[in-house]
This record gives sequence, C-alpha cells and structure tokens, in this order.
Amino acid sequence: MEQMTCKHYKKCGGCQLDMPYEGQLEYKQKLEQRLLGKFATIEPIIGMYYPYHYRNKVQAAFGYDKRAGKIISGVYQSNSHRIVSVDSCLIEDKKADEIIVTVRGLCKDFKFIPRHVLVKRGFKTNQIMVVIVTDSPIFPAKNNFVKALLGVHPEITTIIHNINPYETNLVLGDRENVLFGKGYIEDELMGLTFRISAKSFYQINPTQTEKLYKTAIEYAGFTGNESALDAYCGTGTIGIIAAKNGAKNVIGVELEKSAVRDAISNAKRNKIDNIYFYSADATDFIIDLAESGKHIDVVMMDPPRAGSTEEFLDAVGTLSPQRVVYVSCNPETLARDLKYFLSKNNYKVEKIQPVDMFPHTAHVETVCLLTQQ
Ligand code: SAH
Repeated sequence: MEQMTCKHYKKCGGCQLDMPYEGQLEYKQKLEQRLLGKFATIEPIIGMYYPYHYRNKVQAAFGYDKRAGKIISGVYQSNSHRIVSVDSCLIEDKKADEIIVTVRGLCKDFKFIPRHVLVKRGFKTNQIMVVIVTDSPIFPAKNNFVKALLGVHPEITTIIHNINPYETNLVLGDRENVLFGKGYIEDELMGLTFRISAKSFYQINPTQTEKLYKTAIEYAGFTGNESALDAYCGTGTIGIIAAKNGAKNVIGVELEKSAVRDAISNAKRNKIDNIYFYSADATDFIIDLAESGKHIDVVMMDPPRAGSTEEFLDAVGTLSPQRVVYVSCNPETLARDLKYFLSKNNYKVEKIQPVDMFPHTAHVETVCLLTQQ
C-alpha cells in the first residue's frame, strides 16, 4: 500500500509509527508477542484495509498566536501546552477537520476564542455533532454563530456549548447547553443503533470496532442460556450486542452517568429488554454482585488504559464465570491483570486476538478469552 506522509509528524505526537502500514502491523504483532506471548498463542493482528481518516471523533485546541496575530487550532505539541496548528490530519475524519477550520474562521468574525472544538460523526448515519468548549458560560452572539456555522455546514445535526472552567487534561466540562438539534448523534454497529452524547465514550474507529465486537461475541460463546456482565460498558454497545446475540440476560455497569443514560436509551431504541444498566464504579459494583451470590456465566470487561483493579479481579474469581472476555486497549495493563488473575484462580488463557484500532499510533487493542479449568 502507498504510504502517506504527514508534515506534522514530529511536532504533533498523535502518531508514533512513521513506517509503512505492513511494518506497523508487524511491530504491533511483536509487541503483543512480547507482552502476552507467555499466556497463549497470539492470533495474527486484524489490520485495516484503508488505514486513513478512520477517526470519527476529532478535537482541536484553540488559541491565539500573538506573533502571527491570528487564531490557531490544532493539537498540543507533545508534553507541552503549545498548539501545533493542524488543518487536516491523515487519521481524522475529513469532514470533521473541515468543520473545525470553518469554526476557526467564524471565531475571527465573532471575536471569540473557544478552548476546544470537538466534532463527532456517525460514519454510518452521517449525523454530526459539534461541541464548542469555552471556559466561561458566556457565549457571545451564540444564535448568530450557530446560524453562520449551519450556513456553511448544513450537514451538522447538533451543536452543543460545553463549559469547562478548569485547566485540566479533560477537554469537556460538566455543564453543557444544546444550541441546536438533539444534543447527541446516532451511529450503527452490527445492525444496531447507538446514541452518543458529547461526554460518552464511543469507539473512535467504527470499521475496526465491528471486527473487535464480533471477536468478543464469538469468544463469549453464547448459547441462549448465559447470564453476562458487561463491565466498563460505556454506551452499552458490547452488552446490547451480546443481549441480541445469544446471551439470556446482561447486566451493564459504567461510571460516566451520561454514558449510562445513552446505554439505557440504546437498549430501548433497539428493543432489547434482557439488559439492565447500572451507574457505578465497576469495582464497587462487582464486589456487591459477588457478595450477593449472583450467578454470572460470562464476564465481559473493557476497562480504560489503566486496566482493572485487583479487587475487581478478585470479585471475578468469586463469581467464578465459565468464561471471561477481556477487551483491552493497553496490552501492558492486560498482561498485569492476567498475571494477577491467573495467580489466584484456575483459569486458562484460551485465545488472544489483537485488533488494529489505531493505525499509525503505537496503540493496539486486544481481545482475550479466559476459560475456567
Ligand atoms: N465497552 C465500551 C466502553 C469502553 S471504554 C465500548 O466498547 O464502547 C471504558 C469505559 O470505562 C468508559 O466508558 C469509561 O467511562 C468507563 N470507566 C472508567 N473507569 C470506570 C470505573 N471505575 N467504573 C466503571 N466504568 C469506568
């Protein structure tokens, strides 16, 4: 495949692998072998056919470049707060990049500078969300701003004003006002429809997500009789797909309240009635579940990069499910968690499937199946 090159590579830091795609896949396969090879055979990584413009969620930091005397938007230079001006990116959705450039132009006319602009697009539905993040609740001339933005991009389906007064690494604050549309977008995965809010986690590479979820469901081995837990469930995608594809009933647990609201609405809109969602810390929740003596056949878990906790893994041991499907976006914490879990419980790692969800970056996703011996 022809390799595309990016002029921002060195300063941006968003991508880490400046090599042909085939080489990237080899690199990730070797990384998985090194970190996880001791647990089981590593299946060949599932790569992407066209590994460009796959990101359905794009965020840009905004600032004022005094020397150039103009508003700039882009990414923070690695390990700093200096903004590298980026108008288009090889891994981001092209439409999202276009919208961000338009917003920047309008900011000049409207004489205001947001902190960040976030765009999410449903690749299947083509619904588009634009989130304007400011540090103060005051958004001057917002109605005219919305009108002007929609004038250039009538394809935008919802516009949100998010207020984040804090200097943190988090892009979004807790308060938001919907300026136009429904306040969320929808997308489709494996024939089901999912609603996504500004703050809800949604996998950023939908093409590969379907391959990831298919593998997870296959590993779960549902026959129609199983009770399953979907821990760290986000908007409920994995659990809802499981509930539709052979699980008898599913419990989902997720910390982020807006994601749980999305999950409940997602079950409803897909007419899935054998799933229940809870808003809680996954560790607290599973400890309660284990103490209550609940019977769970399959634990599906998809924690953030930091991985799970020892207490969570202990509770999985108590629940003693036949199978555990661990979906991980960080093979290092996956290896740590597997080592801990296997040292205390009689399970075997049956399968390990890497999936390339993030081409050109050093990140790799893994689905891992553990079965009780
Ligand atoms: N399975 C989902 C989400 C995976 S991302 C999907 O495929 O889309 C990980 C999720 O874990 C995020 O939604 C995040 O909000 C949630 N999370 C992070 N820490 C958590 C905790 N301590 N307890 C429960 N959920 C948590």
